[in-house]
Amino acid sequence: MPYKEDDQLLDTGQLISQDVPPGVDRRDFLIRSAVGGAAAVMMGRVVSADARTAMAVATLPPQAKGSPPPLSNDLNVVKKGQGPVLTTVDEFYKVGPGPSSSHTIGPMRITYDFYQRAIKLPADQLAKATALRVNLFGSLSATGKGHGTERAALAGLVGKEPATVDPKFLDSLRDKPDQVFPVKLGDKSINVSLKDVIYDATKGDFKHPNTMTVKLLAGNTVLLEQEYYSVGGGFIEWKGYTPPKKNAPKYPFRTMKELRTHADSNKISIAKVMLANEMSIAGKSEADVYAFIDKIINAMVATVKSGLSMPEDDVLPGPIKLHSKAATVYKHAMDDKFQADRGIGALSAFALAASEENGRGHLVITAPTGGSAGVMPSLVYGLLEVRKLPLEKVRDGMLAAAAVGYLCKHHATLSAAEGGCQAEIGVASSMAAALTATAYDAPSLVVENAAESALEHHLGMTCDPVAGYVQVPCIERCAFGAVKAWTAYAIASNEIASRHRISFDETVLALAQTAKEMNSKYKETSEAGLALSVVLC
Ligand code: SF4
Repeated sequence: MPYKEDDQLLDTGQLISQDVPPGVDRRDFLIRSAVGGAAAVMMGRVVSADARTAMAVATLPPQAKGSPPPLSNDLNVVKKGQGPVLTTVDEFYKVGPGPSSSHTIGPMRITYDFYQRAIKLPADQLAKATALRVNLFGSLSATGKGHGTERAALAGLVGKEPATVDPKFLDSLRDKPDQVFPVKLGDKSINVSLKDVIYDATKGDFKHPNTMTVKLLAGNTVLLEQEYYSVGGGFIEWKGYTPPKKNAPKYPFRTMKELRTHADSNKISIAKVMLANEMSIAGKSEADVYAFIDKIINAMVATVKSGLSMPEDDVLPGPIKLHSKAATVYKHAMDDKFQADRGIGALSAFALAASEENGRGHLVITAPTGGSAGVMPSLVYGLLEVRKLPLEKVRDGMLAAAAVGYLCKHHATLSAAEGGCQAEIGVASSMAAALTATAYDAPSLVVENAAESALEHHLGMTCDPVAGYVQVPCIERCAFGAVKAWTAYAIASNEIASRHRISFDETVLALAQTAKEMNSKYKETSEAGLALSVVLC
């Protein structure tokens, strides 16, 4: 029987309400919506999309236990995907103490920010101050102890900043937790200690899984209070946050497709599009942008060197008693008789070295986070120190890598508490693939394909750090992320680029969707996966 033009069965999209309401399970919703639509067609009735949505929602089972509350729509980190990408390299690549950008760098920036606000209060109010109090919620509370969040928060209160804090100061807080520090507030000085940082509720209706509050108290009276969110990669927001005003980018883009169109139609590389945008958004000169990138490249090289120089029997801090292995893997890799095996072994050792530095709480670079801090340095070190590529090529690679990270932040997340490990190691690997392809002068489509491939093969990866420490699986995972980045570049530069089937933008959408639907037990809460199955003796 021939189909009629208006036959609803011709267009299955008519049967399914495509807009999934917030806060419901997508799969359940789509199944119920489709069944409702199909039943209506069989009965010869036309049901509007709105009616099908209402029907589907009404028949949904209660949300599975463990599903996190949806992120608040007030957060900039949620609204962000709407305009062009405006992130800049100095916001993105941050130097700070490990082991976690969201649990150490973010909280330290938050308490430092609060201190700066507090000292602006009128003198008569400051004279009444008796205490500073920090409350950690959600994932910050669930895994903060393993990350040293309380030490990072205290360091910010006493005026330390992530990029310049001496890691020995943080080590001393771990070794002598009873230390008391005076904090100057106008003419007044009050004492603070680790007792002023409280591990509060792990579950609740928070705007973001990494929520904390900071208060200045006069006895039981609150003189100043602010609620903050550590939204991933060391980025922070607070209640009522509005992003700083920025200049328009020279080449506005929201997607990789638009970014590549700028590059291809102007016959320049993705890196040069990014350079022009950095200059226009931040009002910086080319020399300023490159000076900052050089600082980050040098810090990445230093972190690998420092990790490789540690003794082979070094034991990382924490209850796992994990032995470092970077120096051993490097030494044995260099003895390997096969050149390719030497390469993979060395790349793994560089990643292990930087990641073990993160586990020690030493200074690392967010690219995009602390947990993934071994991936990009491994490739940077390999390209500069082993392959001896010119610095300019690696600088360009850093800009292309930043574009990949910005797009993931813009449309998905860099936070393990929001998206699991795919948002950390997955994004880092994707960035490192773009870095490598760019450093080898690959065309823009190959850069995109390499970044896509590396991200695609991390989709769904959960975050379940053993005992809440960023060591297992994180350290080895950085090595795998680095090797996968190289594999992604190897495939992308050897395939016929135009035949690559999946676009980077499609994979970023998959990252965002997978992040939303991942059970909260696998989002940096150490409630499942390896964190549950590994027994520490
Ligand atoms: S498992 Fe991945 S996301 Fe989780 S802390 Fe480790 S590196 Fe970060």
